[in-house]
Parts: sequence; structure tokens; C-alpha cells
Amino acid sequence: MPVTRIDFPIESLTQPHSEEEIQRKLAQERARLASMMGLDSGPVRHFKRPFGAEDRNKVTILFGGLTWKHERVIQAVFQGCGYNCEILPVPNVSAFQLGKEYGNNGQCNPTYFTVGNLVQYLQYLEGEGMSKQEIIDRHVFFTAGSCGPCRFGMYESEYRLALQNAGFDGFRVLLFQQNDGVKAASGEAGLKFTVDFGMGMFNALNLGDIMNEMIFRVRPYEVEKGKTDTVFKESVDTLCTMLRDRKPFEDHDDLPEWMAKKIRANKGKKWEVWVNSLLKVREQLYGEPYKDALNAVREQLATIEVDRLRVKPVVKIIGEFWAQTTEGDGNFHMFEFLEREGAAVLVEPIATWVMYMMYQAKARAAARRALDAPHKKVQWWELHKMAVNELKFRQKQWLFGVGEHFYARQYHRIVDRLGGIAHHLIDQKEMAEMANPFYNEFARGGEGHLEVGKNVYYTKNHLCHMVLALKPFGCMPSSQSDGVQSAVANHFREMIFLPIETSGEGEINAHSRVQMALGEAKVKARMEFDQALKSTGKRLEDIKDYVAEHPELRNLFYPVPHVHGYAGVAANFVLHVSDLMNGKKKPARVPQELLQPRMAAAPAFGD
Ligand code: SF4
Repeated sequence: MPVTRIDFPIESLTQPHSEEEIQRKLAQERARLASMMGLDSGPVRHFKRPFGAEDRNKVTILFGGLTWKHERVIQAVFQGCGYNCEILPVPNVSAFQLGKEYGNNGQCNPTYFTVGNLVQYLQYLEGEGMSKQEIIDRHVFFTAGSCGPCRFGMYESEYRLALQNAGFDGFRVLLFQQNDGVKAASGEAGLKFTVDFGMGMFNALNLGDIMNEMIFRVRPYEVEKGKTDTVFKESVDTLCTMLRDRKPFEDHDDLPEWMAKKIRANKGKKWEVWVNSLLKVREQLYGEPYKDALNAVREQLATIEVDRLRVKPVVKIIGEFWAQTTEGDGNFHMFEFLEREGAAVLVEPIATWVMYMMYQAKARAAARRALDAPHKKVQWWELHKMAVNELKFRQKQWLFGVGEHFYARQYHRIVDRLGGIAHHLIDQKEMAEMANPFYNEFARGGEGHLEVGKNVYYTKNHLCHMVLALKPFGCMPSSQSDGVQSAVANHFREMIFLPIETSGEGEINAHSRVQMALGEAKVKARMEFDQALKSTGKRLEDIKDYVAEHPELRNLFYPVPHVHGYAGVAANFVLHVSDLMNGKKKPARVPQELLQPRMAAAPAFGD
């Protein structure tokens, strides 16, 4: 194959350029390459068939790849907005193999799993008697996409190729572009991003995140085996019913009659559309159906009794987005395995990723301040231009700030409403500052600096005993992070950090490596507990007797304060109970409505 020499004058690297000049040169180069490859002639041929409004009732939207808690609530929102929607099964090894068979070589692990999973499901439909054409006509796949810089940017074309190779050419894939947010949706009229849909999805993501974290926080300490799973299933059902069945707010219906009359007379006017949209947002976030569902969930969860005296190492999961989220073969069923081995797992919410995206946009805008200013090279006497530049910059920062504040506030509202069991979101600026000495916050791709930032954050603040990084085979950004992590681990000698490369095979090897590191973490947790107990000067039996006499301490919602330096639940609990026994602290009161009848009948604390 002939080698093409690209003429690139060396002085262009050394001379400063304005942004416009860079853009112009980029466009020139793009045009040159397109013409070289013969891509510059003829109209652009779109390979997707549109998903039109007329298809909406006939077509089923397929999606998947998250945890079952996220998927159930997201499905409920789709259904509530009038779409048929099915969740794909959790990707397994045979899906991975199909992905390899039908996809390109040299892809990262999540590509094979997710692409193969879609093909596998379509083949299953075919096996059930549906013709290929029916499958193509009556289904679309909805997934997230990106422009890179890692292989995430190639997902859509990978789906396309594998579907084509598997005989499902023309199957529609709708992309939600992570950088463009709601603008995404591939411009397909069949999927309409209304205020109700957008806010429903916002609530669903937060609820999925918080329920997912809570289940892992509760299950290791449940007194009755299996109770957590049963109750959480019921609770997710409650949330789904609310998300699916809640009536969308309409100003002409739901405002008091004297206002509704005026609205009806002005229906469709610009200001009316705005008012209606704002009221819809308010109702989605603060409406009675939402509050009632959260209250009902809290009551359901309150039936789980916990034993916080179990000494368990806390394992913080970090890593690539998909590998740290999926609950199947894609990460060797790692969460299940860790719990079986006696650990308490600390999972990562999707909200961290959303906050990261917003933080990145804000930090980048700050770094590009001079480049993006409307007036360049302003002289000191040009006060008006300076003021315009400053105003533009502040406006942008303020907008990002409002977005961050809004998201975090709504997230924390649900956390608090569900008893404060899940964590609040970490301040992204703090995390970036912790990562920066090792990994530049502007290095994009995958989780960027997050893997390093989280490792440092959780270790420095003593919030876990071990950090487990789940890194997919062939993941470029995670490989980069892992390289840096060895410098991080050298710096923090007390850190137990284990990177695990996940792939379609090698589960036993991965489990055995985790077991070894977990052994160390268990020792660490036990020593921490012993030290905490010793510092109280009490015998464990006395602590246990006290807990037995005070049923409130076995209530899921009993707030145990976190003592800096202690990561384990049992260590913190022992310190707190000791304080109570010494009469140092007033016991926290669990709201009466959350107590079981049996518990409510018991004497209240301090009586
Ligand atoms: S972050 Fe890694 S695993 Fe995920 S899409 Fe990018 S390259 Fe693949």
C-alpha cells in the first residue's frame, strides 16, 4: 500500500495561532483528506431509517447495560410517556462471543458485550418465530453515544457493523449523545424529548442510582437473609408505578379554575408554553405522587432490620463506566462475589459521571477564557470590551454552576428523603485537585481523572479498606489510569488497590486475585474494629447487650455518625454505642412512622 506523505510545515507547530486560524486549517485538512479518500462527492447518504412519529405505537424501544434498578425505573418512564419498551437481558459470555464474531477486531470489552448482547436478543426474537424484517421494523435500540476520544465514539458504527454481519441490516440504533444531552435523540421524531420525558428520566436516573447504592449498603448487614432483595424489589415496583402512572401536569387542567380559564384562552402562546413547562418541572420534582412514592419506599425499607456489628471490609469500586456498573459476566459478577466473600461494596452512581461532565465543561470554559472571549487582545484602556468579556465568562460559569447545583440538590433531596443511607455526591473540584498531581484533569477519554481522583479521595478520607478498579480488557483510558495508579499507590502506602482486567474469560483468575487483596482488607477492617473497641474500654459482649436492649439501634435508618479515620460500619457503630453507654451522646431518634410495630412498642432511647 503506498505511503502518503502529509506535508505539515514544522513552523506551524512553533508559531502561535488564533483560534480562527486553527479552525480554518483544520477545515482545510479535513477537506483534503476527504477528497483523498473520495468522500467529497455526492450527497451524504444516511444509513439510518428514520424512527418517525407514525412508528411510535408499532415499535418497541430496546435498551440495557445498566443495573436492574436503573433499567426498571427508566423503562417505567418510557412506558409512562406512551412508548413500548423492553429491557435487554444482562450481557453474558455468549453475548461477548457473538460481539467478537460479528464485530471488528481489537475492540474494547464493553463493545463486544453490549453489541453482542443486542445481536443475541434479536436472534432470540427470531428463534421465537419473528421474521428478520418484522424484528427490524418493530424494534429500535436506544443507547448512549459519544464522539470519543476513546472507542465509545465508535459504538454506533460497531452496532451497525455487527447488526449488518448478523443479518439485521437496517436495524435502527438511536443515540443519546452524552455531550449534547437532550439535543441528541438522533433527531428522530419517533422519540420526543418533552419536558415530562426529560424530567421523568432525570428522576429515574437519580432513583436508580440511590436505590442501587442503598441495596449494597444494607444487604451485608441484613438480619434476615434475603429480606433486602425482596424489599428492594417491592420498593422499585412502587417507584415504577409512580413513574409510569403519574398524570402529567397540564396548566389548563391542574391550576385553579379561575387561572385555568385564562390559560385555556391563551393555550399555545409562547408565554403559556413556558409557564406550563416550568410548572411541569416543579410538579415532577415536588409533586405529591413523587413525595408519596418516596415515603412509601421509606416505609417499606424500614422493615429491614440490620446488625451493624458485623466486621466487613468496605470495598470501593472504581473503573470504567460500564465495567463498574454491569451486574453480570461483564465484570465477572464481581459485586455478588465480593458480598459472598464477606465484603461490603461501595458502588458508584451514574450521577458522578453527570457531575463530572458538568464540571469538565465548566473547568474547560475557564481554561479557554481568553480563547473564547468575544474581544481578543484587549488593551488596558478598552474598558467596555473588558466588561463584555468578563460578563460573557461569568454568564457561562454561572450557567454551569446552576446546573451543578440543581443536579446535586435534587440528588441529595432523594438521598435524605430515603433516610440518608446513600452518600452525597463528591465535590468534583476537590476530586480534580486530588487527581491533578498524578493525572491531568483535562486528559479526556473513559473516566478521565476520575479513577485516580476517587482512589486518592477514598483512601485519604479513610472511607474504604480497599479500592478495586474494574478495567475492561482493551480499554485505552483505563490502561492509562492504571499506569498512573502505581505512582498513586506508591505515594499512599496504606492503600490497598487492585486493578482487575475484565474480559469474556478468566473469571477464576480474577476472583482469586480479588480474594488475595480482600484477605488484606479483612485484616485491616478487623484491626480497625479491634482498635475502636479497645479505645472504648468496653467488652464486645457489653456492646451487644446494649444493642439488644435498644431496638432502635437495629433500625436501618438509625444514623450512626462517621468518625474520621474509621471506614468500617462496625467500628463506627461500636464507638457510637460506647458514647451512648457513657451518656456522652443523646441517641438519635428514628421517626416513629419508620419503626416496626414491634420496635415502636419498645421503650424509646433514654427513657
Ligand atoms: S472507556 Fe475504555 S472500555 Fe469504555 S468505551 Fe472507552 S475504550 Fe472502551
